[in-house]
Amino acid sequence: MKDVYNSMSLDSVAAALCKVLGIDPPRSAAEANPILSNIGSAKKLVMYNPDAVGLEVFQKYTALFAPVLAKTTLALPLSCVMPSVTPVCFGTMYTGVQPEVHGIRRYERPVITVDSLYDAAIRAGLRCAIVSEPDCSLADIFLGRDMDYYRVEGGLDAINAKGLELIDKYDVLTLYNGNFDSTMHKNGPDAPASVEALRRNVETFARVWEACPEGTLVGFAPDHGCHLIDGECGSHGLDMPSDINIVHFYGIK
Ligand SMILES: [Zn+2]
Repeated sequence: MKDVYNSMSLDSVAAALCKVLGIDPPRSAAEANPILSNIGSAKKLVMYNPDAVGLEVFQKYTALFAPVLAKTTLALPLSCVMPSVTPVCFGTMYTGVQPEVHGIRRYERPVITVDSLYDAAIRAGLRCAIVSEPDCSLADIFLGRDMDYYRVEGGLDAINAKGLELIDKYDVLTLYNGNFDSTMHKNGPDAPASVEALRRNVETFARVWEACPEGTLVGFAPDHGCHLIDGECGSHGLDMPSDINIVHFYGIK
C-alpha cells in the first residue's frame, strides 16, 4: 500500500496562531491553516511542545491521550518537514516557512533570521518566552529576540514547574519537553520508559491547561514523529509516515 501522508503542512500553523491572537502573521508565513484559524479568538497563547510525539504514537496510545482529547476541541493532523528533526521542524512551526526559507536543512542550530511568530507577537506588544532544558535547539534557533529564554536546570519537573509559574507573566509562552524524544532514542518508541514519558507529557499538558486563564489558546504541538530502528532504539529524520505525520491538539480555554 502506498504511504499516506497528512495533507496539511506544519507551515500553516504559525499564521493561524497569529490570526487567533488577532495579530499580523510572520512576514513570509504560508497561508494560515483554515481549520485552526477558525477555532475562535484568544488573547494569549501557550504552546506545549513535546518532542517526537508523532501521529503513530497517538494512534497506538490513544487512551493515554484522554486528558488532551477531553480538554481540547481541535485535533489537527499535519505533515512536518524534511529532514524530520527538531530544529528543522520547530523552525517551520514558528516561522510558517519551509526549511529552504528558514535555512535549517539538517540537525544544526543557527539562529533563524526569518520572521517568526515570536517577532510578530513582539511587534504587537506581546510578551514572549521559551521555557526548556538548558540544552535546547528550539530555544537556540530563536535566540536574539526581545523575549525571555528560561533554560531550566534540574530535570523535567523543574522545567515544567517553571513553565507553570510563568504562564501568567507572558502572552506567548512556549514550554518544551524533550523527555519522550530522549527516552525513545535510547529505548525505542514502545518501551515502557517511553510510554511513561508520554504519560508525563499528557499529564503536563493537563496541568498547563488548568493553569491557563480563560481566553488562552493552548496547544499540544509536537515537532515530528519517530520510528523503531535496529537494536531496540528509536530514530527520526526520514521521509516516512511515522516520522512525518503528526497531530496537534488545540483548544481555547
Ligand atoms: Zn524533535
